[in-house]
Parts: sequence; structure tokens; C-alpha cells
Amino acid sequence: MADTNKVLYIPAKGQVELLERPLPRISDGFALVKVQIAPICDEVRIYRDHTIDWYERADGMGHEGVGEVVEVRPGSKFKVGDRVIIYNGMPCGECWVCTNTGGFCHCMSRWVGARIEEVNGNASGGFGFSQYRTPPENQLQKIPDGMSYEHAAAAGCLIGTIFSPMLELGVNATDIVLITGLGFVGLGGVVSAKYLGARVIAAVRHPYRRQLTLEVGADWIVDREDPNVLEQIREITGNRRGADVVMECSGYHAYRRLALDAARSYGKVRFLGYFPRDPEPFPIHIEHDLLDKHLFISGSHDSSIEHRDKLVEMIARSGKAIDKLVTHKFPMSQAKEAFETILTRNCAKVYLYPQE
Ligand SMILES: [Zn+2]
Ligand SMILES: [Zn+2]
Repeated sequence: MADTNKVLYIPAKGQVELLERPLPRISDGFALVKVQIAPICDEVRIYRDHTIDWYERADGMGHEGVGEVVEVRPGSKFKVGDRVIIYNGMPCGECWVCTNTGGFCHCMSRWVGARIEEVNGNASGGFGFSQYRTPPENQLQKIPDGMSYEHAAAAGCLIGTIFSPMLELGVNATDIVLITGLGFVGLGGVVSAKYLGARVIAAVRHPYRRQLTLEVGADWIVDREDPNVLEQIREITGNRRGADVVMECSGYHAYRRLALDAARSYGKVRFLGYFPRDPEPFPIHIEHDLLDKHLFISGSHDSSIEHRDKLVEMIARSGKAIDKLVTHKFPMSQAKEAFETILTRNCAKVYLYPQE
């Protein structure tokens, strides 16, 4: 094993460096994992704008990942050589959310990577864009034999972030699901909804993503800017006059408005799109949007611990679709090219390989 840990650093807008940090150590309850794949998620915004938002530092990036356990503490339920999915963060295990729900990302202490390093007494290891990472064991899940790292890495935000909410909302074969915003989360949503037997309307404009949306099985495509978009959705959904479930994955106000307007009465709307740059809060009209339609609205960031087994089973049976959605793979040494590729939007999920 190397005695240093290479980590990715974004010193300024549009710049990427690799830093050498000491190999992290682990305390009880943590494992040392050699990261094999670090999928890129909202970190591209840090590359583009250098607004750090929920990350605390520019040398601690990346929250998704898979890898190989290379060191454990006595009494660990993992062993050296285990292949694992790493779920992000460090839930406290004690707050109301941790003890009553499976939503680790909504832990009321919100301990992210920097705190993992603090607890282990390290200068690195809390984050995904690194060669070695020190996740808490309760955020690890063994990868089944025969499943590739490439497929297992979809358990992060490509599939997990939207499949888990669909299980929570009870999406099933009687549903017509509208997905607004077809970045990789929305695309993962098409695969998830089809897996659950539902039919899918996708509101997508970008030509590359429109094509991918069709390839992974969307039943209907609509265009948010078409003045008749609501009429089209009502026609598709017949006497329901709207989608049973809407998954809003863009974070843009125009799509958020479409999500509320296109849901049927008594429908469910889940907001997943995260857009911290938008300066204005999104206006919801309580009478028109909620009371008149008896709408159920909710939001979430991530998958639930309770859905991990079902998530891995879904991924095992959706390999071909996941292969289509992982459109680009780069060594971490070429992270700049990876970020630039994402900014073109001619991509879906992009993987970094930290060992290369
Ligand atoms: Zn907690
Ligand atoms: Zn993510």
C-alpha cells in the first residue's frame, strides 16, 4: 500500500490539482477503502463556479464511491479484500432521524467528510475524490459477487437517489410517472420507474439526453417550452388529468412549476433537483397548488438505509441500462477533462478512477 493519499483539489474556477496527503488512519467503526470509482455529482458546480455550498473545503470533494477494503479494526464486520459501496457522510446514529428513519443524508448532525477526518485524526480520507477513503462502516455495503464496480457505483446518485424515493412513494405498475429534468438523476429515474413497472413521461429538451431518455425506455417525451405541454400530459394520462407521481430532478423554477401543475389531484410530487445558485425561493401557491388538488409534496437528497438491499438487487437486474447511462470514464489524473465533458451536457453519469 502507498504511504500517501492522492486527493483532488479545485483551487479556483476551472482548475484542478492533485495533492499528496498522508495515508489516512482509521478509528474503531471505520474502514480504510482503496477507492476504485468516484462518480462525479454536483462537484462540477464547484469546478464551474467555485461556490463550495455544502462541501466545506475545495480539497475535500466527492461523496459517491466504490472500492476495496484494505484495512479494518478488530471486531469489524468487514474484512480486507471486501468490495464495498460507500454511501456518503457520517450519520451520528443518535439523533431522531438516525434512530427513526433510514435517511442517513438527513441526519440532524449532518456530519460530512471533514468531520470523518477529524474523528480519525487525519489530513485526508473523508471524501470520494481520493485514492483512499475512511468511511464509517455503517455507510458501507458489500458488493455481491459477480457485480462489477461500474454497476455497483450506480447505487450512489445515479440510481439510489431516485430509486429509493420511488420505493418510499410506492411507485408501481398502475402509475404514470412524470420526470422533469433529465440529467443523470432523471435518467436513473426512467430506469427505476420502468423497473417498478410504471409508465414514464419525460420532460426533456437537450438533444443528447432526449435520445438517452428514449433508449432507456421512456414511454412519452414532452417539451416544457411547448405551450401545450400540460394539455399533452393530461391527454396521455386520460381521466386522471395528470401524472400520478412527479419526480422533479432539475432544480429549475420552470420545471418545479410544471411538476406541480402536471400532477393529478391527490398526486405525489417529489423534489430532488438541487440548485443552490438560484437566488429566489420557489413560490408555491398554497390554495391553488396544494389545497385545491390535495397534493402530497416532499423532498429528499439521497437513498434510505432501508432500501439498500432492494437497490442492489435492482442494479443487478438493470446492468444494460446502467451501462448506457455511464457515458464517460476518466482517470482522476484527467479530472479537468471529465468536468469539461459534464459542462457540455453531452453526457449522463461520469466516473473518475482515482487509482489512475
Ligand atoms: Zn443523526
Ligand atoms: Zn451524488
